[in-house]
Amino acid sequence: MMRSRLNIPFLKRGKFFVCLLLLTACLHDEKLNEPVKEGDEPTSALDVYIDENFTQAYNIAVRYKYVDNYVDPGQRVAPPILDVVKPMLDFVQEYWIDVYLAVENGEAFFRRYVPAELIFLGGLIYNGDGTVTLGTADAGARITYTNVNGFDLDDPDWLQLQLQVTYHEFAHIVHQEFSLPSGFENISPAGYSSAGSWYNLTEEEALQRGFVSPYATSSVNEDFAETIAFYVFDASFFEHYINLDADCVTADCENDNAGKEKIFEKLTSIKEHYLKVTGVDLDDLRAELQSKL
Ligand SMILES: [Zn+2]
Repeated sequence: MMRSRLNIPFLKRGKFFVCLLLLTACLHDEKLNEPVKEGDEPTSALDVYIDENFTQAYNIAVRYKYVDNYVDPGQRVAPPILDVVKPMLDFVQEYWIDVYLAVENGEAFFRRYVPAELIFLGGLIYNGDGTVTLGTADAGARITYTNVNGFDLDDPDWLQLQLQVTYHEFAHIVHQEFSLPSGFENISPAGYSSAGSWYNLTEEEALQRGFVSPYATSSVNEDFAETIAFYVFDASFFEHYINLDADCVTADCENDNAGKEKIFEKLTSIKEHYLKVTGVDLDDLRAELQSKL
């Protein structure tokens, strides 16, 4: 099992430009859903709310204090201002938990595989090498949300960042527990980038290789997670990645179409696999989330 860290240094035209990936050996080998460790009894109204609605309800611990404990040494982070914690909890509830609870077989899957910890950071993660990390997701056991202080449901960049982090990470659970769809790695085998080079690709180059993002070219597992996340949260997924241009007059256009055909093949195999192993139909999940956006 690997731990992946998604560094997203800036947002471009409402889409993510993902720029640096670091992989480190996985530190977690425990069950994803192991009971939350006993801590101090909650005293503030906010902590009581978290305890009742997340910890007791779903076995999710929410960390928003002492956040230095949840990043690597050498990374600098700040906790969120208190005023945004409850709105962020509501975001998690409405745009993730409620979405799974609303679809057939979603609640059982969610409860069984939900990560044990959510970390809320106020700003970005400042790394020792001068780079900045906008979102991370670690081995299915934890999701770290950055820029919680920027909470703004009307800001499409903020919303997409949080949705991408959420659905990307939760998608990793499926291949970790149930493996990838059969033959998935053979759909665009030549398109995967060599180690540490994916961030040199443009979005169009990734598309022409058959990937929804440059980051998706970094490995078959990231490809799987990115494709699911984009499919569920991107309202324009079909326009961006599936619908073919029937009037191509340039090689670029034809190459875009070829890439889209590969993405369609991936999406088809992912949807069949996801439904078979989890009982959840990704079309239902997408429709449910899109009804809220
Ligand atoms: Zn990932």
